[in-house]
Amino acid sequence: MTDWNAEAQRLDAADPLAPHRGEFLLDDAVAYLDGNSLGALPKATPARIGGVVQEEWGKGLISSWNTANWIDLPQRIGAKIAPLVGAQGNEVVVADSVSINLFKLISAALAMQKGRKVVLSEPGNFPTDLYMIEGLEAQGLAERRLADRASIEDALDDDVALLLLTHVHYKSGAMFDMARLTQAAHDAGALVLWDLSHSVGAVPVDLNGAGADFAVGCGYKYLNGGPGAPAFAFVAERHHASLRQPLSGWMGHAKPFEFSDDYKPAPGVDQLLCGTAPIISMSALNVGVELMAGIGIEALVSKSRAMSEFTRKAMAELVPELPCISPDDPQARGSQLSFRHDHAYELCQALIARRVIGDFRAPDILRLGFAPAYVRFADCWRAVSELRDLLDSGEWTRPQYAERAAVT
Ligand SMILES: *Cc1c(COP(=O)(O)O)cnc(C)c1O
Repeated sequence: MTDWNAEAQRLDAADPLAPHRGEFLLDDAVAYLDGNSLGALPKATPARIGGVVQEEWGKGLISSWNTANWIDLPQRIGAKIAPLVGAQGNEVVVADSVSINLFKLISAALAMQKGRKVVLSEPGNFPTDLYMIEGLEAQGLAERRLADRASIEDALDDDVALLLLTHVHYKSGAMFDMARLTQAAHDAGALVLWDLSHSVGAVPVDLNGAGADFAVGCGYKYLNGGPGAPAFAFVAERHHASLRQPLSGWMGHAKPFEFSDDYKPAPGVDQLLCGTAPIISMSALNVGVELMAGIGIEALVSKSRAMSEFTRKAMAELVPELPCISPDDPQARGSQLSFRHDHAYELCQALIARRVIGDFRAPDILRLGFAPAYVRFADCWRAVSELRDLLDSGEWTRPQYAERAAVT
């Protein structure tokens, strides 16, 4: 039998990313395995926000739109995200939430596809993706069609305008082959929009290599931008000239400070801006993105895979009561593992009481995420050993662990 504890110590000692943990405000007594839901706080963020508030806003006042370059912060952060997702700097912009960017890009895709209205996705996709299609359907602009992941290619017929998929599934961790599905959609005359919320900063993404048309992604997960951080959007350069999105706010105008009565869209991804950017939130996201871009996606991916493999194997050997529903092949999954148990909720709460933070996804999934910038192999080991102990002791059956909070 493997000595998993010793193995975790050996892997931590040899981990080239270990020093980066010190760049985050984390309690060493806590095993934080939920960075896929809310990334940790970079230590540099409070000072950066303090500077933006006290110096740029407080002293610079309105001149900071120019002197501190607030005005192009959405593009500057977008250009730093670009190499993490295989895009050019001019193809990514930071704005709004993932949900709102989905609305803009689904609409833009439909407008490019005369005579086709179907937006194809999979049942069980992240809810907001499905709901945003429904919203457009209610306006008569879209028709939602869902096909199981195994039959997506068969469902791509002449009516499909857009294929909208989440690259790494939030619940199972399963990852789509982006290049293959993008090609299949294009062969059927459809465009493709990828939701990279569970991908960016944790798995290899090559949007341009795959020929993707559009993408959106989340700022508060692996990018460590803080709760409710702004999201990003990608539009391939070849679509810039024909891009038309319906939220025609003044910040997406070609010349917002001419205050013209008539809307004229800005060229390229700048058009995806709608209202004024939340500069304080953007500044926090900027710190998180700089940190991840500084580490580089290859090192992040390789540590992510090593951690999830360590955990998958240790769980299979020591905690067989919780079968793993994520793919066995590390190249076919994201930076998380999902385990099934009838009492996953209670187990998750009991783990949290022991300061191992994972999360629960209804109805029966315990999810452990491995944010490679700061999670230690020792944290992975703690999750496994505490789960074993909770099951052996029956401690998870205490009534307090069955009480449901508003956010799970
Ligand atoms: C987290 C997440 C979102 C978040 O959407 P917001 O509108 O920014 O809250 C969207 N899609 C997926 C797949 C996610 O995992």
